[in-house]
Amino acid sequence: MAKKERKSINELLSLKGKRALITGAAAGIGRAIAYRVAEAGADLELVDINLREMKKIAAELRDFDVKVNVHKVDLSKREEILALWEELGDGVDILINNAGIYLFKDFTDVDEEFFEKILKVNFKSVFWMCQEMIRRRGKKGGAILNVASIEAVLPFAKGLIHYDVSKMGVIALTRALAREYGKMGFRVNAIVPGGIKTPGVKKLEREAAMKLNVDLIKTAINFRNRLPLGRFGDPDEVARMVVVLVSELASYMTGAMIAIDGGFLSS
Ligand code: NAD
Repeated sequence: MAKKERKSINELLSLKGKRALITGAAAGIGRAIAYRVAEAGADLELVDINLREMKKIAAELRDFDVKVNVHKVDLSKREEILALWEELGDGVDILINNAGIYLFKDFTDVDEEFFEKILKVNFKSVFWMCQEMIRRRGKKGGAILNVASIEAVLPFAKGLIHYDVSKMGVIALTRALAREYGKMGFRVNAIVPGGIKTPGVKKLEREAAMKLNVDLIKTAINFRNRLPLGRFGDPDEVARMVVVLVSELASYMTGAMIAIDGGFLSS
């Protein structure tokens, strides 16, 4: 490639002039993504049910000199998703579907109401969000990044079958959209995180210790012992890769499933 055509790494990584929507932005991985995406220069649309935390984050992000809007949306409700996109129109270049819940329940105790709740938050919301993005953007294209889980690929913890199914749905959706909408300018990728110390994971650990949930405590110890890197990950270690995947650095990547798991899936 001629030198003058060749963009620098910094230019390729920059998200200046882009608008990025991040779901589940009030905590954990979503919050870390918001910081890094803002640092890369994109304006942000933060989406979560926790308005108070999002407002705090928006105030902290002022330092990056980007526009930040916050939207209180319950992603389990399609009508709220549609109302959000009515407001946003076609201006979102980057969609990061991160929100998700991981509630433990034995397979034999799962009833329809519980299963439906998991599917609505973890899978159906991603389906509707992608649909709105693609409908509204059309040939303008864009980058979509969906957050799945190692659990979908290698079920490890007991009591997460409903969760595994919902996250496998996210992977199937990612790959199918990548195939169908690549020529329209959409890149659709999934990350597969595992072992990331977030408020959600810390809460689970506290609950397991308090209730002396031996299964869950054993799972956590076995999990850690299997990690090739020998430690849990920080949400920022996920966020850094997300910036790469939604930027031009990853311009030839679509339909990919990237593990960010300290090597768990390889061990
Ligand atoms: P977290 O519980 O720390 O944060 C999740 C955020 O999503 C919260 O801010 C919460 O308010 C929001 N949220 C939940 N339900 C919502 C709803 N109905 N509408 C709008 N917002 C809602 O979670 P985390 O650990 O940061 O996980 C983020 C994503 O990564 C999830 O999809 C999770 O399944 C996935 N994941 C996490 C890990 C890990 O090790 N932490 C591993 C694999 C996958």
